[in-house]
Amino acid sequence: MANSRPSTIKEDALDSLRLCQRDSENVIETLTSVTLDFIDYNVDPSRIKQMESAMLTQALVSSRVERYIEALEMVKNDILQEQEQFNPASRFNEYLRDVESLSEEDMKSHPIYLKYMGQLQTMREEVGVYSAKDGNNEGFTILTNQRAFICPITQVTIKQPVKNRKCGHNYEESAVREMIRFKHRDNKRVRCPHVGCEHEDMHDSDLEPDRVLQHLIEQSEQKK
Ligand SMILES: [Zn+2]
Repeated sequence: MANSRPSTIKEDALDSLRLCQRDSENVIETLTSVTLDFIDYNVDPSRIKQMESAMLTQALVSSRVERYIEALEMVKNDILQEQEQFNPASRFNEYLRDVESLSEEDMKSHPIYLKYMGQLQTMREEVGVYSAKDGNNEGFTILTNQRAFICPITQVTIKQPVKNRKCGHNYEESAVREMIRFKHRDNKRVRCPHVGCEHEDMHDSDLEPDRVLQHLIEQSEQKK
């Protein structure tokens, strides 16, 4: 077809944008992990404010890239579906009309930022709880930590913690995903393996990485 060249360009553009999106996810992870360190090491709150503002900037970059990808996909779809000729570039711009008006201020309600702020809050609570129990700012309460760090499936210290969004429990990522896969293969419902938990219909999609727990585990490994 005559338009094979433009559509190749669109695929290239989409690939580049997806790369961009992955880079952006890496930056978000790094910013999160550095901020968690800052909270743990009790650094000057103004430094944490700087990180929060860097995260707003990054959330803005990320949501723009996301919108570019959506717009390109919509144009691609239009080309496939519409008989009538149109100018792909101007339609692309049309889809992106609102992107330039997005501001960092808008990002304060963006899921990326809200999730980040939630993680900071959890970290503050964890550090607070552990310090208070320990009576100093440095150590962690071994008992509390060890219990939280052990996976209920493998019975050993978690390396890659994920959290169940539904009940809040943690597990080793590979172990819990395998458990869900096996049970679902036999058409069985999956119960949360934490003793006493009522949650009995677990799904892969309920799991998310638990950066705060990961940080705490890494810290405790380093202190050994
Ligand atoms: Zn549970």
